[in-house]
Amino acid sequence: MVYAANVVKHYHTGELEVPALRGVSVDIWAGEFVAIMGPSGNGKSTLMNCLSGIDTIDSGLVIVDGYEIHALSDKARTAHRAKRMGFVFQGFNLIPVLTAVENVELPLLAASVKPAEARRRAVAMLARVGLDDRAHHRPGELSGGQQQRVAIARALVGNPAVVWADEPTGNLDSSTATAIVELFVELTAGGHTVVIVTHDPAIAARAHRVIDMVDGRVVPV
Ligand code: ATP
Ligand code: MG
Repeated sequence: MVYAANVVKHYHTGELEVPALRGVSVDIWAGEFVAIMGPSGNGKSTLMNCLSGIDTIDSGLVIVDGYEIHALSDKARTAHRAKRMGFVFQGFNLIPVLTAVENVELPLLAASVKPAEARRRAVAMLARVGLDDRAHHRPGELSGGQQQRVAIARALVGNPAVVWADEPTGNLDSSTATAIVELFVELTAGGHTVVIVTHDPAIAARAHRVIDMVDGRVVPV
């Protein structure tokens, strides 16, 4: 489902060239639940962004869902992401002027799902993350953990083939975090692929496999 070979990525900031990925290869199967772990600043978010096609790579190969994503046009890559992938970002990226349910139904409306159907599915997904009573609150009226659950609902509502989640349980108490992780486990049982970055060993323990990153490289198992 996700195949990458020898991915190299540098960031350029003024004169400075920061190596973020120094030749990363991964092979993730459909229905696998993979946790990416490793110290801060060692390339986990960069890897996720490069695998999902949010960011470009310097060299190497990334194939997701049968598509060599860096060979796609920007437009095709964006469409592929919208249709087949769900994202939970480190900073949530919720739209502040929209309510929780409006944020969650956004990907469905973008995919031309009829508004009534989109609303029904968004409400149901909010219920699954335990937020049915906050559907009409705006992000600024929700706690950090609640915002995070809205972001998770938005990532899952379109039934994506691959879910990318960067520290999705970072702000949650342990029982809410466990419930979210069980949701991911359920997804993989249905054939969806889930890739999460986490610092929490208890969450990584629920994954099928852990990929450890140190200094822009995958630690060999
Ligand atoms: P954390 O656990 O703190 O989220 P991470 O493992 O996700 O860390 P990355 O965000 O992938 O780490 O960063 C890898 C390296 O690339 C770091 O040295 C970081 O400073 C650098 N980096 C990340 N994003 C950028 C950027 N947009 N521009 C320049 N350098 C960046
Ligand atoms: Mg990160």
